[in-house]
Amino acid sequence: MTAAEHGPEAAVELKDVRVTVAGLGVSGVPAAKVLHRLGAQVTVVNATAGDKQRAEAAELEALGVTVRLGDGDTLPEGTELVVTSPGWKPGSPLFVAAEQAGVEIWGDVELAWRLRQPGAAPWLAVTGTNGKTTTTRMLAAILAAAGLRTAAVGNIGVSLLDVVLGEQEYDVLAVELSSYQLHWAPSIRPHSAAVLNLAPDHLDWHGSMAAYAADKGRIYHGNTVACVYNAADPETERLVREADVEEGCRAIGFTLNAPRPSEFGVVDGILVDRAFVEDRAHRAQELAETADVTPAAPHNIANALAAAALARAYGVPPAAVREGLRAFTPDAHRIAEVATVDGVTYVDDSKATNTHAAEASLAAYDSIVWLAGGLAKGAEFDELAARAAGRLRAAVLFGADRALIREALARHAPQVPVTELERTDTGAMSAAVALAQELARPGDTVLLAPACASMDMFTNYNQRGEMFADAVRVLDRASAGTSPGEGRDED
Ligand code: ADP
Repeated sequence: MTAAEHGPEAAVELKDVRVTVAGLGVSGVPAAKVLHRLGAQVTVVNATAGDKQRAEAAELEALGVTVRLGDGDTLPEGTELVVTSPGWKPGSPLFVAAEQAGVEIWGDVELAWRLRQPGAAPWLAVTGTNGKTTTTRMLAAILAAAGLRTAAVGNIGVSLLDVVLGEQEYDVLAVELSSYQLHWAPSIRPHSAAVLNLAPDHLDWHGSMAAYAADKGRIYHGNTVACVYNAADPETERLVREADVEEGCRAIGFTLNAPRPSEFGVVDGILVDRAFVEDRAHRAQELAETADVTPAAPHNIANALAAAALARAYGVPPAAVREGLRAFTPDAHRIAEVATVDGVTYVDDSKATNTHAAEASLAAYDSIVWLAGGLAKGAEFDELAARAAGRLRAAVLFGADRALIREALARHAPQVPVTELERTDTGAMSAAVALAQELARPGDTVLLAPACASMDMFTNYNQRGEMFADAVRVLDRASAGTSPGEGRDED
């Protein structure tokens, strides 16, 4: 194994280093505590000074950490290193000052990487606009099926810092990384990595599509065995070509078609590896069947292929891929089948918060009553409407930016009946489901794939999905109650 695979020669020494932590909150507070424990002289700066921030500050000050509330712009005197929460934008005055002073800026992922001990578990890393969490969990399931000590970590709810500094030992980690985290992680060197897809998202943060793509592309930097790309998305392949990788690292594509040499793909419903096999010019290795993947929607088969490619790059045997994929269950609100009522299947894909994700789930069904709307985040819906047109029985639109979707449907799918819901109260989702029920015919799918963020009407996409599922269960019970022979009471 090369030094790059192990990471740094030794974990970085932070004792007595004057570190400024940019921002309190879910990432800043734990980072400040870790840095303090390692002997650094820590100052946390935070622009706002509300009740929550004061409470967090008091907790840190009790430990001996300095906290400066009400000014997030000025770089404290003598700062030798800045550690930032991933959310802070690149052009923030604090960072400009740090750059001018030649002070490095690390995110939480960079800090975790620098604190790894030599020989620590290598990272198999996953990024992309959509499918990161699903693919990372599939990967962890495959690695676990191979008997490896592993965990799904990173932008997935399990902090890399905790894992790197914790007692538990791992053989290999399945690491989900967001574009923000990658931006602030200049020196990480995964064993192998995948960029699943690239579509415009978070452009307000990155500044441009080129900057967003460049940040995603950092994941390939220093890879030692495989850079996994999506053969249907030439941008991801371009990022591999431009990456600075270790000698001998291979470019491995995944495709929903029959694979070429050095690709993973699908042949007659079988997921196959034509990359990590002997004589790949003539042979391919069977890994699993599409029916082993839940749900077996095309984009999810692509996720499974990417996870399989990373696992095989690490040397996992073919049987573990099948076993791991069978053991995998998707997280909630990701193409989750809630119930079939009167021949109509209700599917909750509340996590489809952008047009690229919604397009993938709409492509998975033939005749759809589509529930969509919310906050568009600057997105356009023309392409989505044009591609989905042939599959839509009807659309039920809600939320702040529903007019944008209505107008796109009018331009590209004028034959599709559209109903708009003006109400935004807590009963709005049941009303939308009731409308969808009236519009659907047996064999149809009622699909919640909003293509928008949820915060105009809901706390988050979880709550939006739960309200949908609750409303569907009410329909289901009502339908069961009124079916012949059930003998329901009149109360
Ligand atoms: P992320 O972690 O990148 O947000 P998730 O795995 O949580 O991705 O999936 C989010 C949503 O994106 C899913 O609900 C689904 O609608 C969509 N999705 C998942 N995988 C893909 C893919 N490979 N291509 C396009 N859309 C996808």
